[in-house]
Amino acid sequence: MRKLEADVVVIGGGSTGAGVVRDVAMRGFKAVLVDRVDLAQGTSGRFHGLLHSGGRYVVSDPHSATECAEENEILKRIQADAIEPTGGYFVATPTDDPEYGDRFKTGAEATGVPVNEVSIAELLRREPRVNPKATRAFETLDGSVDGWQLVWGAAHSAEQYGAKILTYHRVTKIERQGDTVSAVICTDDKTGETVQIGCSFVLNCAAAWGGQVAAMADCHGVEVVPGAGIMIAMNHRLVNTPVNRLTYPADGDIIVPVHTVSIIGTTDQKAEDPDRLQISYEEVQQMMDCGEQLVPGFRQSRALHAWAGARPLVKDSRVSATDTRHMSRGMSIIDHSERDGLKGLLTIAGGKLTTYRLMAKKVVDAMCEQLGEQRECRTADEVVPGSEKHTFYSVSHRLHDREEDRLSEQILCECELLTKKMFTDLQDEQPLATFDDLRRQLRLGMGPCQGGFCSVRATGVSHDRGKIDIERATGLLRLFLRNRWIGLWPILNGDQVRQTALDDWIFEGTLDIGHLPQPAEEVLR
Ligand SMILES: Cc1cc2nc3c(=O)[nH]c(=O)nc-3n(C[C@H](O)[C@H](O)[C@H](O)COP(=O)(O)OP(=O)(O)OC[C@H]3O[C@@H](n4cnc5c(N)ncnc54)[C@H](O)[C@@H]3O)c2cc1C
Repeated sequence: MRKLEADVVVIGGGSTGAGVVRDVAMRGFKAVLVDRVDLAQGTSGRFHGLLHSGGRYVVSDPHSATECAEENEILKRIQADAIEPTGGYFVATPTDDPEYGDRFKTGAEATGVPVNEVSIAELLRREPRVNPKATRAFETLDGSVDGWQLVWGAAHSAEQYGAKILTYHRVTKIERQGDTVSAVICTDDKTGETVQIGCSFVLNCAAAWGGQVAAMADCHGVEVVPGAGIMIAMNHRLVNTPVNRLTYPADGDIIVPVHTVSIIGTTDQKAEDPDRLQISYEEVQQMMDCGEQLVPGFRQSRALHAWAGARPLVKDSRVSATDTRHMSRGMSIIDHSERDGLKGLLTIAGGKLTTYRLMAKKVVDAMCEQLGEQRECRTADEVVPGSEKHTFYSVSHRLHDREEDRLSEQILCECELLTKKMFTDLQDEQPLATFDDLRRQLRLGMGPCQGGFCSVRATGVSHDRGKIDIERATGLLRLFLRNRWIGLWPILNGDQVRQTALDDWIFEGTLDIGHLPQPAEEVLR
């Protein structure tokens, strides 16, 4: 058994855990973060990509609206490289009640969310594809945020303050001595080794899995309800800014431009198990219909990929157990010393990716209070590594870089202008990473061809460098393609069938993928 020591163990490497480990490390604690898989592979990698201005909540959840507005400003200051500051619009389509706009305006004033009513002509000048029959429009400070970039940025910042980040470390037990937490036991899923991390405090940031993790410390009955939502990426940037319906939050009412694509979402249904989220044909059709309302002709573009994420909603006694749309999106902190008589364990869940830094501050403040320590939070003041130049990203940032200094480099993925060097540099930094791990950080295979060409090149490059043998190389390719398929099945319609057939011909016809040298066991991680 491998043994480590820390003051604080953070469980969960989504946005909340990454924010928490950064905050803990910046306050001078020796910290370790563990996640059962890669960073931001839970909900933080399966969300809509909206940097909230607060506009969405000015009527339904005023407190969250104010938090979003404040954090929107802070994140733009400290994490510019994860944000495209597009601005956004709330638009009343012909079927929406234009009077909701008055409630929206009053709510925005009351919550401090900056909004500005604009003419339909101005809206259409900025967003020419939006429904020309719209009756009202408000401009907001919504933006587009790259969850992986944000989470890795916070994690790198924590590492600079001495924190250890352990991915593929699955927590199986939280040990206690008497009434106090004493260690976290994990399995290193890459090596099979058991790891014991001695500590005096555990911060449970496992979100939709938070109840399972609390139970590992014998704190039973923590109800985090997975509120599942689906999203679909379309093959174009149909809008240049996030466009919301000007209505009380409902299904399928936002389109967000994220890098080269735009994403329609989302639904909200209670799920039983956050690891088994379903995407039904009906939900896909519902999203496509909702897209048509905002952008007529939406269905004529090609759906690229569908996925689902689970909102970690702490059960609220005021609403029915199945009504996840109306459960609070606010954050909840559970103090297990009060609830279960166990000192040194706090669970945090809820909130939004946009408010991740604030969530971290609140839970680390609560930890310091329990420890009787006075240590100030500084996460709003210091810029995260990668954002030192305060340069926001834009849809053309890779094209710009390529024209500046990368013209001599081989392109691995044309859709996302990913160069061979970007790929091999990260592979050197993270030699055990799968192609999916690299995808999340580099956007490999995330454009219109969904890996049809670049996955084969990535395999060839990886093997050619002599660092992995042929069996592992093909094993990684097969794993990558299997995972891409999960998001393709639900949307196999129209043009997507043609693209998928082309990919299949490439893999079967030119590569004979079914007969490549096989690893003795299927590569899973
Ligand atoms: C459909 C949908 C759309 C959304 N859209 C937006 C949006 O546009 N903007 C916005 O601001 N917010 C949005 N949200 C909310 C936001 O995505 C989440 O609130 C946020 O990502 C939650 O982050 P987290 O770190 O708390 O959870 P997660 O990212 O789920 O992290 C929890 C982590 O715990 C790990 N874990 C679980 N069990 C264990 C274990 N035993 N051992 C070790 N690790 C473990 C998991 O692997 C996971 O990485 C959306 C949510 C959903 C579901």
